Amino acid sequence: MAGRLRMMFLGPPGVGKGTYATRIAPKLNIPTISTGDLVRAEIKQNTELGKKIKDYSSQGKLVPDEIILTMVRQRLQQTDAQKGYILDGFPRNVSQAIEFDKIATLDTVFNFELPDWVLVEKLSGRRVCDSCGTGYNIADIKNGEYVMPPLLPKVDSTCDKCGSDKIIQRADDTLEVVKHRLQVYTDETEPLIKYYADKGILKSFHVKKGLADLPRINAMLGIQEDSKL
Ligand SMILES: [Zn+2]
Repeated sequence: MAGRLRMMFLGPPGVGKGTYATRIAPKLNIPTISTGDLVRAEIKQNTELGKKIKDYSSQGKLVPDEIILTMVRQRLQQTDAQKGYILDGFPRNVSQAIEFDKIATLDTVFNFELPDWVLVEKLSGRRVCDSCGTGYNIADIKNGEYVMPPLLPKVDSTCDKCGSDKIIQRADDTLEVVKHRLQVYTDETEPLIKYYADKGILKSFHVKKGLADLPRINAMLGIQEDSKL
């Protein structure tokens, strides 16, 4: 895999690609780049771009692709990204992908796949501490090859981190909203998957056990198993 580390992680909400990226990138000595992080950094540093982004969001508008692409291009020029990087959740549609191809070349797009019924259970099983934001999951998936244990607080209904008893389900994670989010993702992403498959750089990875799949992903990337997770 050496020298071919310009990667993008693609996958539906709930598939765990962000978690995989944050575990894998340090082992390869490359950064994870997510547009959400870039946006937050620009706003926090109050840059010219940050101010523009704020204007768009205060008007309830989406940040235009050209701003996103400018941020990504600047990020790719930094020293730590010269060996490679993992793009997390970007490009998110074909028009962004076409624009991105003008500023950089991806070596591999990993498409993380998980059947919708597992995603629905996982996403609607999400719970979060209302006080400190610690995440939990009540979904207990044990079905054939899919095994994902729940992530529960050690003491029933009490946050491990802050002791609050307000562990709630976000409005975003209710069943109907989850189903809608997955449908939007599928509609938007199917053409993108085809775009990268046609380029011959798409690799599919079937998620089955969540974090326990990391050894299989590492093996695929040629990462040695000795280092701690
Ligand atoms: Zn808490």
